[in-house]
Amino acid sequence: MLTGISVAFMGGDARQLEVIQKFTELDATVTLIGFDNLQRQFNGVLNAKLTPDLLRTMDALILPAVGTDEAGQVDSIFSTEEMILTDEHISSLPSHAKVYTGMAKSYLKKLCAQHSIQVVELFDRDDVAIYNSIPTAEGALMMAIQNTDITIHGSMSMVLGFGRTGFTMAKTLQGLGAQVKVGVRKPEHYARVWEMGFHPFYTRDLYEEVGNIDLLFNTIPTMIVTAQVITNIPHRAVIIDLASKPGGVDFRFAEKRGVKAMLAPGLPGIVAPKTAGRIMANTLSQLIQDDFKDRGDME
Ligand code: NAP
Repeated sequence: MLTGISVAFMGGDARQLEVIQKFTELDATVTLIGFDNLQRQFNGVLNAKLTPDLLRTMDALILPAVGTDEAGQVDSIFSTEEMILTDEHISSLPSHAKVYTGMAKSYLKKLCAQHSIQVVELFDRDDVAIYNSIPTAEGALMMAIQNTDITIHGSMSMVLGFGRTGFTMAKTLQGLGAQVKVGVRKPEHYARVWEMGFHPFYTRDLYEEVGNIDLLFNTIPTMIVTAQVITNIPHRAVIIDLASKPGGVDFRFAEKRGVKAMLAPGLPGIVAPKTAGRIMANTLSQLIQDDFKDRGDME
């Protein structure tokens, strides 16, 4: 339970509603900032404006998936008012308070470091990344289906990277009956890819390997599908880049060559906001229970 813990939610999208729901069920004292247009009612939840005085009373400040932009702005789909998290706000938090978010830009990290406030980034965690890989792979499949005139079954599909997202992507494609090639750079990953019944190759051989593909799913967050590689990709192929912005594909050259290529960020929040919200809700509530378990007033 989170009895006696004061939590402020600042901004967010549909995912945050799952988190708020969970925190109210666990008896936290919940205040919402930037939810003035929210239609849904939560029992016992307060709405407030962002002020230093309010933050002085908080144990935890929960920000959206992308905490702030590089100017401190916090997005909310439930408000039209601009919200900027400033030095004055962070300095008002009690010293034991923590800031939780999906991923923190350097603005937020710097601000919190200046006031010795810990920032906890959920998407950094292996468990969250693995859970999120499920809606990500489903979203990538949706995009593939929308942008091709062939079935995934029987297609020659390529996955670049065999980390948390690449692994689930490859398995999901295999489940649908695709032939799956997986590009890696480490021998142990090559062995595992082979053991799992995919076709392994080293990314240094990418140029040769792309010659017969129908679909390419990139999860490597660095420029990997270069102009040179694209010259060997068939025109029929579709490239779906899952890596974080700016992705790992030379989009300018793909367009010039007439190969369909798209960056697909934030798929869990787009295709499965409820599931993505539950993933955040479960992890966050457990984390905060652990972080504050020594407080006498918690059950
Ligand atoms: P991860 O577990 O760290 O996997 C990244 C993979 O890339 C690893 O297999 C890594 O191999 C490989 N890699 C990195 N640099 C490489 C290079 N230069 N050459 C060859 N392989 C390289 O990360 P993840 O959780 O799967 O996430 C992958 C990307 O997807 C991230 O950018 C993440 O932000 C993004 N993402 C996007 C969505 C979406 O909705 N689009 C959702 C979730 C995640 P090694 O082990 O050899 O380093």
